[in-house]
Amino acid sequence: MNDLKVNFERLLKDLEELGKIGQDPLGGVSRPSFSLPDLEARRWLQQRIEQAGLVCRQDGAGNIFGCLPGKNPQVVMAGSHLDTVINGGRYDGSIGILAALECLRRIKEENLSLNKTLEMVSFTDEEGNLVGDFLGSRAFTGQLQVEQLKNARTQFGHSLEEILQKAGLSAETVAQASQERPEVSAYLEIHIEQGPVLEEEGVAIGLVSAIAGKRYYQASFVGRAGHAGTTPLELRQDAFIGLADFALKANQLTLRKYEGNTVTIGRVMLKPGSFSIVPGQADFTLDMRSLDGQSLKAIEEELLKLASEVASTRGLSFFSQLMDGTEPVVISEAVLNRLKNLCQELGYQYLTLPSGAGHDAQIMAAVCPVGMVFIPSVDGISHTPEEAINYEDLEKAANLLLRTLISLASE
Ligand SMILES: [Zn+2]
Repeated sequence: MNDLKVNFERLLKDLEELGKIGQDPLGGVSRPSFSLPDLEARRWLQQRIEQAGLVCRQDGAGNIFGCLPGKNPQVVMAGSHLDTVINGGRYDGSIGILAALECLRRIKEENLSLNKTLEMVSFTDEEGNLVGDFLGSRAFTGQLQVEQLKNARTQFGHSLEEILQKAGLSAETVAQASQERPEVSAYLEIHIEQGPVLEEEGVAIGLVSAIAGKRYYQASFVGRAGHAGTTPLELRQDAFIGLADFALKANQLTLRKYEGNTVTIGRVMLKPGSFSIVPGQADFTLDMRSLDGQSLKAIEEELLKLASEVASTRGLSFFSQLMDGTEPVVISEAVLNRLKNLCQELGYQYLTLPSGAGHDAQIMAAVCPVGMVFIPSVDGISHTPEEAINYEDLEKAANLLLRTLISLASE
């Protein structure tokens, strides 16, 4: 049992096949939740689970499970997500699911008799292509209400209900998904780092120590549109200048007072949006992240106050609406220590590091201890067609997952 390894060739073959589903002519993989490619990937995964001799089930949120029953029903779970952003990469999410599948398949082949039940999971809509991130894991952990789901509109303009119905689900089934949840004693997830640290340090395995929390706002500065030639600079209520002023000040303030935390304005839309008209409105997204819950709250309050101040000194109005938020999570020390010990046994060098990006593991932390294993992202990039990994790193992470699952399920 101590020298058991995954069948890495088989894992790579799965990865190659899954990577072909949703290939986008414009580059990379486009598999947003419940799109045709996502539905195809779901069918493919269900087949793979059945071929492996695991018990396949889907819950009311469309989360897909492959189960290997143990002596008692308590579950040690591992997984990630099948969905991708538009023109995303082949590894974000996929490696976590396929590594978990391979581990269970391998354990079943060996006829290992374990105390606890093992389950692999593919969580619905981790990327938040529909509404907010983590629809599947939030539903699984009982963090979504029917009303909230019924009123939700997706970023594609359709109501969430409409899209759920096409997949044979509804707001009610999603909200009730947590009632089908078994008793989960731990959740593990392998993921690409999506940053440059591991590659720079030349280390194959990253053990995540904490996951950042996030606040995501949709906000606007509103002033007055005017002719670019006839409105004197000193008489303008230019919404873009307000946003530019705020963006610089917000960056300076965060760097000065909240080092290590982030603020990002990722999308900006100016209205009316003509080269010859002073912008009367600047709509933008505001994303704030921190590993510390109190800092996150403080940054949120301070930056919203700053935006109102900038607006009032420039004759503008400021509006904001919270779209999504998560709290930071500290990884279970028991699981982290177990991962460290097993890395040592396997002779794998590792680095502990925090995750600035959100993951299903963070949501799962509400119901059980979690652990996360990162592998390096080539050039630190993700969510693009160029996303890449080194296969040796994935092999190590998969073997670490295999050993950790066996160890946790033997208790
Ligand atoms: Zn991901």
